[in-house]
Amino acid sequence: MTSATIELDHRFADALPELAVDWAASPAPTPAVVALNEPLAEELGIDVAWLRSAAGIAVLAGNAVPDGARPVAMGYAGHQFGNYSPRLGDGRALLLGEVLDAEGRLRDVHLKGSGRTPFARGGDGRATLGPMLREYLIAEALHALGVPTTRSLAVVTTGETVARTGPEPGAILTRVATSHLRVGTFEYARWLEDGANLEPLVRHALERHHPDGDDSARPALTLLRHTVEVQAVLIAQWMLVGFVHGVMNTDNMTISGESIDFGPCAFMDRFDPATVFSSIDHAGRYAYGNQPAVAQWNLARLAEALLPAIDEDRDTAVALATEALEGFVDRYQRAWSDGMAGKLGLPPDSPGNSALFDGLVSLQTRARADHTSTYRALASVLRGDSMALGALFPEHVLEIGDWSTSWQGALGDADRGAVAEGMDAVNPLYVPRNHLVEAALASAVDGEFAAFGSLLDLVTDPYVERAGRRAETGPAPDGFDSGYQTFCGT
Ligand code: AMP
Ligand code: MG
Repeated sequence: MTSATIELDHRFADALPELAVDWAASPAPTPAVVALNEPLAEELGIDVAWLRSAAGIAVLAGNAVPDGARPVAMGYAGHQFGNYSPRLGDGRALLLGEVLDAEGRLRDVHLKGSGRTPFARGGDGRATLGPMLREYLIAEALHALGVPTTRSLAVVTTGETVARTGPEPGAILTRVATSHLRVGTFEYARWLEDGANLEPLVRHALERHHPDGDDSARPALTLLRHTVEVQAVLIAQWMLVGFVHGVMNTDNMTISGESIDFGPCAFMDRFDPATVFSSIDHAGRYAYGNQPAVAQWNLARLAEALLPAIDEDRDTAVALATEALEGFVDRYQRAWSDGMAGKLGLPPDSPGNSALFDGLVSLQTRARADHTSTYRALASVLRGDSMALGALFPEHVLEIGDWSTSWQGALGDADRGAVAEGMDAVNPLYVPRNHLVEAALASAVDGEFAAFGSLLDLVTDPYVERAGRRAETGPAPDGFDSGYQTFCGT
């Protein structure tokens, strides 16, 4: 049922008052909707016409609070580039509350860019149009690729000008998540008031994410195991689509296993494990190839925070947590291998798979071949056309030819046309490539939204070829990536 308002619960605020600060958004002078996700609104049971009305826009801009809602800034800590900050929190964001979606699941509705909060430290509490549209686009693209992620309901401009490197239009993103609980939320609870909030937080998290899974004697260990599992699967998905998150601090890692907080993120064009786009990541800590190890490091911080809730006896707690953390590698490997098998049209458990996958990744790395195009080109080989593949590996033609022969051997007598079709159904043609995103955002910031809409349309239906859009299937012109950075000053 859709309703002409948003009916918001306040379960987090009620359950964890010490981790939430009741707060109101700063008023936005002249809010206007620039992006609205109608299918998502419907999924949430929110009436689209109402959302576009003055009353709906007032909620999206933080100028009005739906009846019964209780917006809060959430407290959390975080390891940022390895350094611990005991108190970060929503410095420019608010959890409006939780909505029951059409399938009966509880989803958070959150405003990002809604003004300073008690967690703002030196920040202005604002967000700007380019980065909020980037987050909108990347989240929806990941979702279309089947990668777990927070979603984007809307972007509104506020009518204010915000100072960044220059004047920028102010904007607010309405984000939807299965929850905004982060590794950093648990780190915060661990160090606040002697950890008194830890057990209520664990209970709340399990209720939100695993309503059937809390019959064990050790709920904190159950939660850790679940988080290891969902994060291992998530990172494998990022690796398979060539996604670089860019700022995997523990405050940007969810308990739900959804991708969150896209700042200096990007899809990689030319394959290189060292790929990093963030202007502040000088050491490459969050480079593409480091993501699985960083996720494990972050999960170890979660385990540390949870220790006193796992067992009173520290040695017992450490042993149990360590065992849970060790599950990451196998789970990650399995998710990645299953994904690679799907991308290459192979049965998941063939004995030769692992050598084939490693061979391809090694060749991709040496040739710096475009990640996304490679898998579509391989499907073309099965249809009798090797041109595209050769063009991607111009200096490694013989090697990719040998690899392809082994791969086709592994396909056995499977019908080539059917395998190619199956591959095309899981390997995207269109991802939000950096140069396309930059161009779309630049014109949006100038008030021209056609390119943004057109790119959004493409990347949210990424598998089916569109007439006249061939140029968007290829990498940026030479030289673009080497100078490309996305900035954290969002
Ligand atoms: P992020 O890099 O977006 O994950 O943010 C890291 C931390 O900085 C979080 O605590 C944010 O709330 C805070 N933050 C980022 N930008 C601002 C801003 N303009 N004003 C206030 N707080 C901010
Ligand atoms: Mg963040």
